[in-house]
Amino acid sequence: MSNNNRLRIAIQKSGRLSKDCQALLKQLGVKLNLREQRLIAHSTNMPIDVLRVRDDDIPGLVMDGVCDLGIVGENVLEEAQAERVRNEQFAEVTKLSKLDFGFCRLALAWPQELGLQEKAWFNGKRIATTYPEILKQYLKRENIDASVVMLTGSVEVAPRAGLADAICDLVSTGATLEANGLMQGDTILESNACLIQNAALTDQSKLALIDKLMPRLKGVKQAKESKYIMMHAPKNKLDEVCALLPGTGQPTLLALAGSDEYVALHMVSSETLFWETMEELKALGANSILVMPIEKMME
Ligand code: ATP
Ligand code: MG
Repeated sequence: MSNNNRLRIAIQKSGRLSKDCQALLKQLGVKLNLREQRLIAHSTNMPIDVLRVRDDDIPGLVMDGVCDLGIVGENVLEEAQAERVRNEQFAEVTKLSKLDFGFCRLALAWPQELGLQEKAWFNGKRIATTYPEILKQYLKRENIDASVVMLTGSVEVAPRAGLADAICDLVSTGATLEANGLMQGDTILESNACLIQNAALTDQSKLALIDKLMPRLKGVKQAKESKYIMMHAPKNKLDEVCALLPGTGQPTLLALAGSDEYVALHMVSSETLFWETMEELKALGANSILVMPIEKMME
C-alpha cells in the first residue's frame, strides 16, 4: 500500500505513451514539476505524485497498491493479468476509462513470400512474441498447436533470423511489418491506453480526488470530439441551415448588429463540419463559417 495520502499515478517514463500521459495530466489540471531523470514528480497544485516507470511495471504497481492509478496499454495490462492468473497471484484492477491514445493491435504476421495462410498452417510452427500469455490464450481458443518463442524486443526480425516461423506483435500502421517483409494476419487484440485503479483502494480522500478527476477526464474526452461552430446565417433560410448542422444540439441564435437579414448562429457539435456541408451552407447564403476546437467542457 502507498504510505502517504498523496494519490500516486504511474505513467510510462519514456516511450509511445509518455507524451500523451503528460498532456492528459495537464489537461486534467494537474500541474507537475517534471525533471527528466526523476522517478517521482510531485504535483504543485494537488495531492498527487506521478511515478515514471517502464510501461511493463505499471499493471503490477497498481495491482499491488504501490500506485493508486496507472495509465497503460490494454495489451500490457492483459498480458500482466494473464501471467499473474497463471502464477495464482492477485491480478485485479479497476479499469476506469479507455483513453483516446496508444491505439495499436496485436496481430499475427509471417514472411510475405509464403503468401496467404490459413490458421491450420500455424500448427507445429514457432511464433515469436513479447506477449506469450495473450498468444497462448489465442492459440488455445483457436485450437492451434504452435510453440511460443518469448522475445522482449526486435520481434519483427525473428523469422529472418531463423528464430521463429511467424510473429505476434504490435502493429499500428503496418510499416514495420512491411519493412521486414512480413504479411499481416489475424488481429488477436485491439488495444488503447487505459486508466486503471487499484481494486482495493479504500482511502476516502484519494477516492474523493479520483471522483473529482473523472468528470474532468470525461470533459477532456468530450471536448476533443466536439467542435464549436459559428456562422452568419440568413434568417429566411434558418430551417434549411439547421437541417444541415451535424449532431442533435440546438443552436444559439444572436442578433447581428446592423443586419436584419442575418443572425449569428453558434452551436456545439459532437461532430466536425465537413467541407461539403460548409459548401452547402454557403450555397444557402451563410457566411463567415468557423469550426473551432474546444479545450474543455462540463455539462
Ligand atoms: P518501456 O521502455 O516503457 O518498456 P516499450 O518499448 O515497452 O517501453 P513503447 O514502444 O513505448 O513500449 O510502447 C508503449 C505502448 O504504446 C505499447 O505497449 C502499446 O500499448 C502502445 N503502442 C501504440 N502503438 C504502438 C506500436 N505501433 N508499436 C508498439 N506499441 C504501440
Ligand atoms: Mg515495455
